[in-house]
Amino acid sequence: MKQAQDASGQSVDAPKETLNPFEIAQMLIYNATRELGLPMAVYEYLKEPERILTVSIPVRLESGEVRSFIGYRAQHSDVIGPCKGGVRFHPDVSLDEVKALSMWMTFKCAVLGLPFGGGKGGVICNPADLTRRDLENLSRGYIRALAGFVGPDRDIPAPDVNTNPQVMGWMMDEYSKMKGYNTPGLITGKPMILGGSAGRGAATGRGAVICIREAARRMGLPLRGATAAIQGFGNVGSHTAMLLDELGVKVVAIVDARGGAYNPNGIHVPEAVEFYTQNGTVTGMSHTETIDTTTLFGLDVDILVPAALENQINMANVDAVKAKIVAEAANGPTTPEAARVLTERGVLQIPDILCNAGGVTVSYFEWVQNIQNYYWPEEEVNQKLEQMMVNAFNAVYKVMDQRHVSMRRAAYMVAIKRLSDAMGARGWI
Ligand code: GLU
Repeated sequence: MKQAQDASGQSVDAPKETLNPFEIAQMLIYNATRELGLPMAVYEYLKEPERILTVSIPVRLESGEVRSFIGYRAQHSDVIGPCKGGVRFHPDVSLDEVKALSMWMTFKCAVLGLPFGGGKGGVICNPADLTRRDLENLSRGYIRALAGFVGPDRDIPAPDVNTNPQVMGWMMDEYSKMKGYNTPGLITGKPMILGGSAGRGAATGRGAVICIREAARRMGLPLRGATAAIQGFGNVGSHTAMLLDELGVKVVAIVDARGGAYNPNGIHVPEAVEFYTQNGTVTGMSHTETIDTTTLFGLDVDILVPAALENQINMANVDAVKAKIVAEAANGPTTPEAARVLTERGVLQIPDILCNAGGVTVSYFEWVQNIQNYYWPEEEVNQKLEQMMVNAFNAVYKVMDQRHVSMRRAAYMVAIKRLSDAMGARGWI
């Protein structure tokens, strides 16, 4: 643990907190391997990604300037199937973050029983500083640089923070041009006209809401009239808010990257979505007060949904959290230390690798549809998603109950058991 220093250079006791997502991911794997009494070889196979590619992507910007962006792709494990996971565009992308996110994808796919391993990509950039043309050239440059590394049977990218169906469409087009034939199975989360799946846009939010519904049912918490606060209003946060609203949950607070809105009587969610689309923030919508993240986390609500980035619930704010359910719609939003505090206080945390797995599940459906070239109606997609999420939730809940561990630990145990079974069947252990 690092020792903090005060102004005079003296060591002071820093609050113990692990903030490096890669170290956090390794710790979770190590603990679950030991807890299950599995051979440590399982941990050895899983503690580092199998392959990592770092690329430099030179882009001629519309301004005429040439700038090189750093991009990564980590392929953590293909023991169960080809690697799968999103690509994020963000100024804070780092190799350790991409590595951790690729590891979390392996466990997410294993919890859901998908025939995929984990992968993740990222480009260090601020999309807000780029024109649409710049963004297109960067997206095309990224996938060109990765072309020998990814593919429908090797590694299948998808959207993540600040990437969307349009970005997927550009990447699919660029890769298909290089191949000389149409390759929709390269990437998921595409526009529907290019082979995207019905229901993919809402899928992560839908999966999170299915988990919240199941958790509330077990806790005896009626959802109609229950209250929720949501941090993050991108694809995941906005769909989660809409679907909670449809179930009668009162969404009282929303915070996005540029501000926030609060109304103790409930925010009109469809209006918030409309306002956000027009203004890029929910700040200033009618009948709301402005709110920041710190205040949002401390609200007296039943359900708290972190749907933004890593390490948002940490030792600095965890004591203020009053929610009964924390639904991790983001990847890695709670530090291990803060998670322990919440567990001790009896807060049910639905772990990220289960809670936000709806996205990759419908990505799997998209990939299957692309391979078959046969497309399903949205009701069929949603029905299959419902079934897979409920099955996964039940499997994790059962382990939690039987082993008296947190839901996070239980989810890792379910995942690692499957991964270790696959390793055994391949003769690796
Ligand atoms: N980026 C999403 C995630 O973190 C979706 C990944 C996918 O669809 O492959 O789960």
